[in-house]
Amino acid sequence: MNAVASVSAKAAFVRKVGGPFTIEQVDVAAPRDHEVRVRMVAVGMCHTDLVARDGFPVPMPIVLGHEGAGVVEAIGAKVSRIKVGDHVVLSFNSCANCPSCNATKPAYCYNFLANNFSGVRPDDGSTALSQNGEKVNGNFFGQSSFGTYAIAHERNTVPVDKSLPLELLGPLGCGIQTGAGAVVNSIGLKKGESLAIFGGGAVGLSALLGARAIEAGTVIVVEPNLARGELARALGATHVINPKETPDVLAKIRELGGGGVTHAVDTTGIPAVVAVAVETMLPNGMLGLIAVPPPDASLPANMMSMLIRGAGVKYITEGDADPQTFIPKMIEWYVAGKFPFDKLIKKFPFDQINEAAHASEKGEAIKPVLVF
Ligand SMILES: [Zn+2]
Ligand SMILES: [Zn+2]
Repeated sequence: MNAVASVSAKAAFVRKVGGPFTIEQVDVAAPRDHEVRVRMVAVGMCHTDLVARDGFPVPMPIVLGHEGAGVVEAIGAKVSRIKVGDHVVLSFNSCANCPSCNATKPAYCYNFLANNFSGVRPDDGSTALSQNGEKVNGNFFGQSSFGTYAIAHERNTVPVDKSLPLELLGPLGCGIQTGAGAVVNSIGLKKGESLAIFGGGAVGLSALLGARAIEAGTVIVVEPNLARGELARALGATHVINPKETPDVLAKIRELGGGGVTHAVDTTGIPAVVAVAVETMLPNGMLGLIAVPPPDASLPANMMSMLIRGAGVKYITEGDADPQTFIPKMIEWYVAGKFPFDKLIKKFPFDQINEAAHASEKGEAIKPVLVF
């Protein structure tokens, strides 16, 4: 059954660079052929939402939000894999028709920006959102899920079992997938191998969860915030280094890891931190870089040192995940008690979206989830 009419929804708009979010009425169109309309149950807030709010080039006014979870309320005429009533998690979007998408590597879609950041449907520049007949930009990560209803695409919509706590699942679509996927998929961490994680925010702690799920050996988290360090320990970090207390982080990692670690990930994007991370790796080691760096930063690595160790560096988008298979895998780990990602989540009512953003920026909430 397709709903032919648009629905009225409440959504968080960003009208100017820097915000704030303002909750306003918006009309959400009926889904087109390959689209689905989802009644949102909850949505995670990711660092990228705040980067977009604060000036990453997205058109305004726009509805952001890209870690949505909800119930499918209507489907387009050509949707075959999703049914009305399905519980779903929404993830990033991709074009379905480029060399990366054809190789099931949608995180490196050649048309990633157009499908996730352009604010419109890339094929015709239209948008599913409007207010009093005026166009409102949407399609952020193929969803714009900071609203009571969202239009997503069959391709970035992942059905999940109805017995699961849907309210918690949205962050699996981006932040948690990014951290866990980075170590499990992108840099190929294996059981028994060692890992250093720079930064204990949502992505760094998700990397830790991924490492624990696959039974990695030594996992060291470098994080100056004491509460985050404590949480890292509770989630299974074998060591936590506070760089305020232990200024020579490199020496400490070499001591703890027997000369270094086989793998490392940086989630800070700070060149001085990356300079340490590249030196922590044992021969044939691999470093993953996840965070958004300053636009003018160069990689601070000594080429001879890298050569002698045969060390590698991989820049990572969305944890190299194919959401259709990786989200179910994380859920399988969660159900088996090996991936307690719910410990990262702090819930806020949707209308406290600005408070949630503030708590995230202050480090008081690792992964805010807005509940409708
Ligand atoms: Zn593509
Ligand atoms: Zn994200």
